[in-house]
Amino acid sequence: MTEDQIIIRFEGVTQQFDDDEAVLKDVSFEIERGKFYTLLGPSGCGKTTILRLIAGFIQPSRGNIFMNGKVINRIPANERQVNTVFQDYALFPHLNVFENVAFGLRIKKLKNADVEKKVMEALRFVNLVGYEKREISEMSGGQRQRVAIARAIVNEPEIILLDEPLSALDLKLRTEMQYELRELQRRLGITFIFVTHDQEEALAMSDVIFVLNGGIIQQSGTPMDIYDEPINRFVADFIGESNIVPGRMKRDFLVEFAGKEFECVDQGLQADEPVEIVIRPEDLEITKPELGKLQVRVDTQLFRGVHFEISTYDDAGNEWLVHSTKRATVGDRIGLAFDPEAIHVMRFGETEEEFDKRLEAYSEVSYGE
Ligand code: ATP
Repeated sequence: MTEDQIIIRFEGVTQQFDDDEAVLKDVSFEIERGKFYTLLGPSGCGKTTILRLIAGFIQPSRGNIFMNGKVINRIPANERQVNTVFQDYALFPHLNVFENVAFGLRIKKLKNADVEKKVMEALRFVNLVGYEKREISEMSGGQRQRVAIARAIVNEPEIILLDEPLSALDLKLRTEMQYELRELQRRLGITFIFVTHDQEEALAMSDVIFVLNGGIIQQSGTPMDIYDEPINRFVADFIGESNIVPGRMKRDFLVEFAGKEFECVDQGLQADEPVEIVIRPEDLEITKPELGKLQVRVDTQLFRGVHFEISTYDDAGNEWLVHSTKRATVGDRIGLAFDPEAIHVMRFGETEEEFDKRLEAYSEVSYGE
């Protein structure tokens, strides 16, 4: 990323309220202009705090926040080119749709003709032309959501912050709005920073995801990077379902777990180093016992529509969850087959930097010839 592509930079930002434990701990990251970013993590991990710092509602206890290369720690919220869409939309119930969207422009004392033009353009973007005169109470949840977005984009901000904006919607509408929001972001080209604790939502919508836990960014990357190469147990567990078992690296490309040795694609770890192994349930294939790399006993089976979710145990007592379109029989002994690429080896307590270095070294060897 070149310097002028970076719209927001956090440099060693710590946020502490009173004498409590820090909510953000020495957090550093960069946000690229025009992309869709998602802050993902469990409740209380610091996602909203990052949004509030960017919006200017609070100031960092330590560290610096840059916007377009300038420190903005002390710039008040109303002087930042940033708009927030809140979880409850925070619409004005006594104003109609048009006036809700127009509110910010009226405060700026724009001429009526300009207000009219800008509001109608914003309503067109969110497909609400014809609804101008409607009261907020007459709008559905999805429509209110769109009014809130129109109210944010009408100010032509450089960044839109969205704090769990879809959490109040039912599943079907939520999926539709995910698609709509993503499309809108592409059409507008404005940087979106979206907060959610829903991993599927994050995977579906984002260019880049920051996975947070305990006030620390555990991993950042594209949805596929994060899904395919989780850096630690927390990320592997939080993003999708995973089998995580203890193991030991024997040497490059050979790892031991569940009492056996397996060929893998990982290298750059110490011989005999204790590691954690991740295999996704959809990467395990059911076979006859003698054809499997692992032999397991089927414990439970649930039909999930597209696939069966089958819980199995190996002789060492490790649980292996399998997603398969094939049905198994509870109590049967079966084999599990998987490719070397399906095995993800994680070092205990590896930092993101160490992980990146290892990945880089590996890519050079694999593709550099
Ligand atoms: P959620 O998904 O539940 O909204 P979150 O990841 O957005 O969670 P934050 O709202 O950033 O989490 O809060 C992180 C922690 O900071 C929480 O433990 C919260 O109680 C604490 N916190 C936030 N604001 C304040 C404040 N003004 N004073 C004291 N503690 C605060």
